[in-house]
Amino acid sequence: MTDQAPHATDLPFAGVELGGTKCIAILARGPDDIIAERRIATTGPAETLAAIEAALDGFGQFAALGIASFGPVSIEAGAADYGFITSSPKPGWQQTDLAGRLQRRYGVPTGFHTDVTGAALGEGRWGAAIGLGDFAYVTVGTGVGVGLISGGRPVDGMTHGELGHVRPVRLAGDAWPGHCPFHGACVEGLVSGPAIAARAGRPAPELAPEDPAWEGVVHSLAQLLHVLVLTGVPRRVVFGGGVMTGNGHLFPRLRTALAESLAGYVRRPELDDLDRYVVPAALGGNAGPLGAIVLAAMAARGLPID
Ligand code: ZN
Repeated sequence: MTDQAPHATDLPFAGVELGGTKCIAILARGPDDIIAERRIATTGPAETLAAIEAALDGFGQFAALGIASFGPVSIEAGAADYGFITSSPKPGWQQTDLAGRLQRRYGVPTGFHTDVTGAALGEGRWGAAIGLGDFAYVTVGTGVGVGLISGGRPVDGMTHGELGHVRPVRLAGDAWPGHCPFHGACVEGLVSGPAIAARAGRPAPELAPEDPAWEGVVHSLAQLLHVLVLTGVPRRVVFGGGVMTGNGHLFPRLRTALAESLAGYVRRPELDDLDRYVVPAALGGNAGPLGAIVLAAMAARGLPID
């Protein structure tokens, strides 16, 4: 062999997690082999994408690229808007070409999905759902998102799921209109960080565990869990995001509320051990960037992510 270039399989993967307030570009093979990481503020699309490209340019060669983005995004392969951020409420980002632009620039296999699906794949590969092909990752932060994985693949159809926007049965006597601009009192409209802050009059991190505001949060999240158990039939549900982090008291309350809501209808060993069924994320803030690395690895193997 005279070829001095590294063999493609030796090259690391590049990942981009594009979040609503910040992006992380990462060059890695896994959590124990992170070669470079760059943080970029998410501003307007032109400036942000230029900064992402500058970071990726500095990484040198990589075998494949994975992109996990805030959404909604178009994941329909072959569609004219594939790889776009589509109807995002984020100012200036509607109909922004993201994955296509980066794929053309770098010419490597490129995987693309939502940030929450990326985080789910990261938790499945290296975090709290290792070894499971069927699980869900729920983020409760600025918004509420669900990454549902079945048979090791994201559950996609005409597009990605949006289970954070299901309408929960309300807590008796609770008529607060909710905070989602589309649905009012959907799960995101009731339990996202901004929803909690709007309702309580102060940020979620300032609420003590005994604050009555948590009762409605637990109830709504248990409703989401109820729907998840009955539809996605995950073998575990991993919770992350800013509202869950630092609020460990929510986990035992969620397990109790889930058991009460299901009322013994589904009988599986997983549901007999709720301490292992409803669990906190293990990768923390690295779940998203590492999830982008998983998307890159899947693209490199030629796997359709839907
Ligand atoms: Zn909604």
